[in-house]
Amino acid sequence: MDALPPTLEATGSGCHGGRETMLAAAGAAGKTAAMDQLMQDYPRGPHDQPQSMCPAFGSLRVGLRMRRVATILSGSACCVYGLTFTSHFYGARRSVGYVPFNSETLVTGKLFEDIREAVQLTASPADYDAVVVINLCVPTASGVPLDLLPKQVDGVRIIGIDVPGFGVPTHAEAKDVLAGAMLRYARLEAEAGPVARPRGAVEGQPSVALIGELFPADPVGIGALLAPMGLSVAPQTPAREWRDLYGALDCVAAAAVHPFYTASIREFRAAGRPVVGSGPVGVEGTAEWLEAIGRAANLPSQRIDLAKARALPAVQGALAASPIAARVTVSGYEGSELLVARLLVEAGAEVPYVGTACPRTEWSEADRAWLAARGVHVQYRASLEQDVAAMEEVKPDLAIGTTPLVQRGKELGIPSLYFTNMVSARPLFGPAGAASMAAIVAAQTKGRERFSRMVGFFEGVGTKDGAGYGFTGKPIDPPGFRDRQRKQRLARAKAEEAVGT
Ligand code: SF4
Repeated sequence: MDALPPTLEATGSGCHGGRETMLAAAGAAGKTAAMDQLMQDYPRGPHDQPQSMCPAFGSLRVGLRMRRVATILSGSACCVYGLTFTSHFYGARRSVGYVPFNSETLVTGKLFEDIREAVQLTASPADYDAVVVINLCVPTASGVPLDLLPKQVDGVRIIGIDVPGFGVPTHAEAKDVLAGAMLRYARLEAEAGPVARPRGAVEGQPSVALIGELFPADPVGIGALLAPMGLSVAPQTPAREWRDLYGALDCVAAAAVHPFYTASIREFRAAGRPVVGSGPVGVEGTAEWLEAIGRAANLPSQRIDLAKARALPAVQGALAASPIAARVTVSGYEGSELLVARLLVEAGAEVPYVGTACPRTEWSEADRAWLAARGVHVQYRASLEQDVAAMEEVKPDLAIGTTPLVQRGKELGIPSLYFTNMVSARPLFGPAGAASMAAIVAAQTKGRERFSRMVGFFEGVGTKDGAGYGFTGKPIDPPGFRDRQRKQRLARAKAEEAVGT
């Protein structure tokens, strides 16, 4: 990493430095308001440090997935290396811009000039609708003032955001930092005058804006649930194209399906849109959600009842066709953990614990209360340690969780499944979600006996001194090897001492 300004030198920086020192440095460098806003939007809990990938990846991913949007990082080279590597690993297929710095350009303010120049060079209206600049930990703590960038260059919008690991606890919430900043820009544009028409918009058809990254079939399925009420699905948040932001803001109601998009929700509210929490999972969840959406959209009760009459028997049928008889623990950092747990419980599963790295908000309150009433322990801002302790205590038939939790589960012979892979590969909502959830749980729990045999077979192999390969039996220490090594070490230490004196 490049040398740091004096305020940061004492403790190192970023993920492994002192958070308080970084916050103090950011405050001293004029970022107090920005840090206060982050603190308010993404409140801390028992787990207040990132335990997964660098949070800024969330913002970077949102920018990279949008058409005609360029994304530029401002941060230490090691952070940028990790972030670009991860984005290409996830198939970004786009260049990530980078403005490097050293201690001199950081403390003299030249870094800001370099960023402004990069923005001017990049902002070509033929190629881009917007250019996003993301301040990582060190430039944020050093007060690089992205708010002083021009608001637009030749009609290309410029959006600068601070996404430090010491201010945004999860990469999920970092998605909201950029989504919210874009919605705000688009809202102010729409308030100022006419804007581009969203692709595929149907004149006069009221729509519901879904908030959160969903499996591609889910918005289609939710559209089918809404159709009997005369509603359609608006472009999603985070958006895929700039003009979609106008389409989303033009909704009759916003659905905070992922409940941690605090900044985005603020923009929907500022645009006068009612916001509904939870999501259409299982029979009860779908009924409550359709009711809430219908009321938010000021629809007569007959239309709400019609939508429920169409949807609920199908969900009920899917759940009844493949009941789940298993104990399952759920943990993750995607924000949909409570919805998954609700669906599992309705399908017949016993769910003693659900942990989410995301914070408690009013938009998951109905799910929390529903789960708590059925004896489920809900842990917001759950740490890996809490998730693992819960799994070890309840010994589930299936543990759904993050990578390190799944690794621990497999060591213990507990069938385990990555939460992110599960929700990003199948629908969650409506009848399709009910059917697919039962199928995946049944397939995974069947492996329990196989797991136990594997754990027994490999007992002691591949851990500690037994690590390695090429053994035909259980590895054993060569007789006398450790003793000889210990004596050699002692002799070497003595010889070095003699030279020293
Ligand atoms: S930008 Fe990300 S990787 Fe870099 S120090 Fe901050 S949290 Fe860590």
